Amino acid sequence: MSLLTRMDATPEQVFDHYRQVNLIDASRQPTGAALAVQNPATGAILGQAAASDAAETDAAVRSARIAQRAWATLPARSRGKQVAAAARAIADRAELIAQVLARETGKAIRTECRGEVAVAADIVEFYGGLGSELKGQTVPYHPRMLTMTSREPLGVVAAIVPWNVPLVLFALKVAPALVAGNSVVVKSSEEAPFATFLMAELMMQHLPAGVLNVINGTGAVCGEALTGNPDVAKITFTGSEAVGEHINRVAAGRIIPVSLELGGKSPMIVCADADLDKAIAGAVSGMRFTRQGQSCTAASRIYVHDSLMAPFMEELKQALDRLVIGDPLDEATDVGTIINARQLASIQKYIALAEATEGARILRFGQMPSSPHLAPDLFLQPTILTGLPEDHPCVMEEIFGPVAVVQGWSDFDAVVARANSTHYGLAASLWTRSLSTALDGTARLDAGYVQVNQNLTIQPNVSYGGFGRSGQGKEASLEAMLEHFTRLKTIVMNFD
Ligand code: NAD
Repeated sequence: MSLLTRMDATPEQVFDHYRQVNLIDASRQPTGAALAVQNPATGAILGQAAASDAAETDAAVRSARIAQRAWATLPARSRGKQVAAAARAIADRAELIAQVLARETGKAIRTECRGEVAVAADIVEFYGGLGSELKGQTVPYHPRMLTMTSREPLGVVAAIVPWNVPLVLFALKVAPALVAGNSVVVKSSEEAPFATFLMAELMMQHLPAGVLNVINGTGAVCGEALTGNPDVAKITFTGSEAVGEHINRVAAGRIIPVSLELGGKSPMIVCADADLDKAIAGAVSGMRFTRQGQSCTAASRIYVHDSLMAPFMEELKQALDRLVIGDPLDEATDVGTIINARQLASIQKYIALAEATEGARILRFGQMPSSPHLAPDLFLQPTILTGLPEDHPCVMEEIFGPVAVVQGWSDFDAVVARANSTHYGLAASLWTRSLSTALDGTARLDAGYVQVNQNLTIQPNVSYGGFGRSGQGKEASLEAMLEHFTRLKTIVMNFD
């Protein structure tokens, strides 16, 4: 019986199943080289993932190019139904996927991984129902001519994902691309590839061979080969600003469309009339402390009205002290580990900069775990920085760790200007009971995703994407599928 159908399959069997293989043309194809994948919570090597070279990457694009022709000719609703069936396959094996994800990312199973699988399945299901929305328009050009537009697929889409929420980001790219009639080659994150492979192979059981292919490898070899392949018609990328900028140049050189979801330094403005309890809960969830702050939308700059600062800090302290840091697989754990030593060093560099700053306070919360089977190196306590100058790197730059900056304010115009002062523009939130403050603030905040009195994560039907150097293009929503995974053709018929 195949691993995919065995309900008693274990994460260890999954790691073994994907030992040094890519998923191309609906089959596991061996690669010449491997990349070790580590469990960040224990330091143990989980398995050996594929390290695709250029030829192995090209093989995936070739498979996708061939499969796309027939896929694009299917009625759109039929494609959607197959994608919806793929969503059910994810949901059926949600626990196994979550267990694999927790082991390779160090994210806690209860607070993060199960939820991520559920959101990914929800996104895929949502797009599965949108096949019939790939509509064109008729245009009143001339009474005796038929002038219309139609939405066509682009061809082969290259989708490149990072490690922090690999499954949700996979779903946001793959599902709309497929429903729109494209085929896809996904490059998984070399830090956390196995849950992506498992989710993809489960989906492949319901899709024609070759329309979805997943390869793993380094950015420098596999990623470069993928974005440079002349048969790739579109690149959709989520990751760091530096790599996003580079990919933007590659796409410009080839004159192909590109969507980029990059970093963020999202402000959260707490007004004097805010509901304090709601704002505290929003700060903890919005900062994604249970994801170790490894989130592009993390509410990492918290501006609290001076009149609320003392109770805000007191309640925040209590809420963060309640978080249990520990084994990601333990149901009692709220907060797991940082993904790897490189990311930890980068976070600690910022904390050291704050420590070296006169007047700064560094507050750490929660207890570090001490279990003998855990490698303590990659655990980090939720940390709050206060008393920093506004141009400090910890205030202006993305830390991508459990470190939030809390600053006071008294003048609304000035705090909005401070909120808008980084080069990012991914998300922002405003906490107030006043509708006029909410309307004024949301109009002036320079971010692609602005929320009032909540800090929710991605919803399948709500456009999500950044302004400025946070990226270009949207994900989630019908518009994202139409604008980023189709091309518009104008047809003028004259039978006069
Ligand atoms: P990263 O940019 O290092 O890597 C992301 C992906 O790009 C990986 O799969 C990697 O192998 C690949 N890659 C690297 N170099 C490449 C190249 N030259 N060509 C093609 N592909 C290449 O980012 P990361 O460290 O994996 O993820 C963390 C970053 O992702 C953070 O900066 C974060 O802000 C960002 N992020 C953004 C969003 C968003 O929606 N805006 C969501 C999650 C993460």
